[in-house]
Amino acid sequence: MTSDRGRRAACIVTLGCPRNEVDSESFAAVIRRAGYRIVRDPDEAVLLLLNTCAFIAPAVEESVEAVSEALAWRSGGRGRRFVLAGCLPGRFGDDGSGGLEGIDALVGPADTASLAAFLGVDHDARGRSRISRRFDRYLKIADGCLNRCSFCVLPAIRGPFRPERASGIIAEADDLAASGAREIGVVAQDLLAWRDGAMGPADLVSELASRHPDRWFRLYYLNPRRFDESILEAMTRFRNLAPYLDIPVQHASDRVLARMNRGYGRAALERICDMVSHAGLDIACRFTVIAGYPGETDGDFEDLCSFLRGASSLRSLVAFPYWHEEGSVEYGRGDGDLVDPAIVDERLGILDSIGEEAAEAWGGRLTGRRISVLAETSRRGRTVFDAPMVDGSALFTSPVRAGAFREAIVEGCEGLSTTVTVSGGN
Ligand code: SF4
Repeated sequence: MTSDRGRRAACIVTLGCPRNEVDSESFAAVIRRAGYRIVRDPDEAVLLLLNTCAFIAPAVEESVEAVSEALAWRSGGRGRRFVLAGCLPGRFGDDGSGGLEGIDALVGPADTASLAAFLGVDHDARGRSRISRRFDRYLKIADGCLNRCSFCVLPAIRGPFRPERASGIIAEADDLAASGAREIGVVAQDLLAWRDGAMGPADLVSELASRHPDRWFRLYYLNPRRFDESILEAMTRFRNLAPYLDIPVQHASDRVLARMNRGYGRAALERICDMVSHAGLDIACRFTVIAGYPGETDGDFEDLCSFLRGASSLRSLVAFPYWHEEGSVEYGRGDGDLVDPAIVDERLGILDSIGEEAAEAWGGRLTGRRISVLAETSRRGRTVFDAPMVDGSALFTSPVRAGAFREAIVEGCEGLSTTVTVSGGN
């Protein structure tokens, strides 16, 4: 075993979604091969890698702020080097305006080859190295996207859809399980588009769940365009496949969905809700939607609200305002149909209330029931219906060993927060 003492230190800061967490672990593997140990505090480090997000304007803003902090860090000590990685350089690159002073290297999304070249080490595309101490890890089964939604610049940033081979995914899941992951999030921009020969996404996740029956698997993101019963059947067969559907619904008005180029209409969404309610088990749905899409009328918005109010499996609703992103198809259509920001705010408020009502209804359903929980600390964890970082917590009435799965009785719920009594020893 190599001692860390005396090794140079590097710090990795990750912004954005689970995909970026996977990329950061791949960057960490390269950095460790270059002889650094990874630390959490930038002040202990001589190398800082900032893995950014630039999907929509608020993410760009957050990334730009973090870049300023990183530049201040770099000028605060001798010999410090700063690598700007991820979607920000992937989207904007070097525009030649000279704003890159203080940045030692630009590395695009998941571009471990460029990082390896900068650090002067051999490139190994599949290496990953754990950074966080959390019990959940992510498994990226594809990068890029094959869809062309009118509002989205992600295919331009992350490139065309590139599925990983099943054998590599399975081997990586084995590694994650062996290294202590209790929950594995299976991630792709459009998970249901994944294929390897005759093997589809439901076959893949069934294989993962059967190989590791003592781990939870959670699926991100299930585009309604390709949703069918096979995923629900897999959830019914494998109880360690979390009964949780993270669905980017985006809207429910046929007119708006067509303008978004989503490839489905309200009828497909209703069919999904129908399949879920007849699946024979409780399934929690997390929907993301966009409010104030260009041209969205009161009638379109009412369509969205009526769909959401009728979706009995909805547990968690996330509503974003529309962002007019330069480079998107919608941006090219001009500003003429943009919705007044005051109306967008009002609509977001209505969607928040619908989300609160849905969470409350779920809370009522869960109270008194026996459910599975994963302890993240001795006093707090998550139910199987909650994804890490984005949903609620389960509060334990007595201590549980961190990392343990337990059966628990739900005492009560407030919003997405659940209080549970855990049965069995600790
Ligand atoms: S499915 Fe649409 S919104 Fe999602 S990444 Fe692909 S193009 Fe963007």
